[in-house]
Amino acid sequence: MKTTVKCPSCQKLVTWGPESPFRPFCCERCKLIDLGEWAAESHRIPDTSPREDEDIRQPSEETD
Ligand SMILES: [Zn+2]
Repeated sequence: MKTTVKCPSCQKLVTWGPESPFRPFCCERCKLIDLGEWAAESHRIPDTSPREDEDIRQPSEETD
C-alpha cells in the first residue's frame, strides 16, 4: 500500500516514495512555487531602512 499526499501547491495526489523526488510536491515547478511564496512572505518587511545610494559611486560623469 502506497502512501499518497496532496501537493501543497496544486492539490494533486503525490505518491510518497522515491518516484516522487519533489514530495510533498508533485513536481519541481510546484516546489519552486511554494518556496517562492515562502520567500515572499519572509521578505514582507517594511522598507524603512534608508537607501545608501551614496555608497554606490557610479563611474558615469553627471556634472551640471
Ligand atoms: Zn503540484
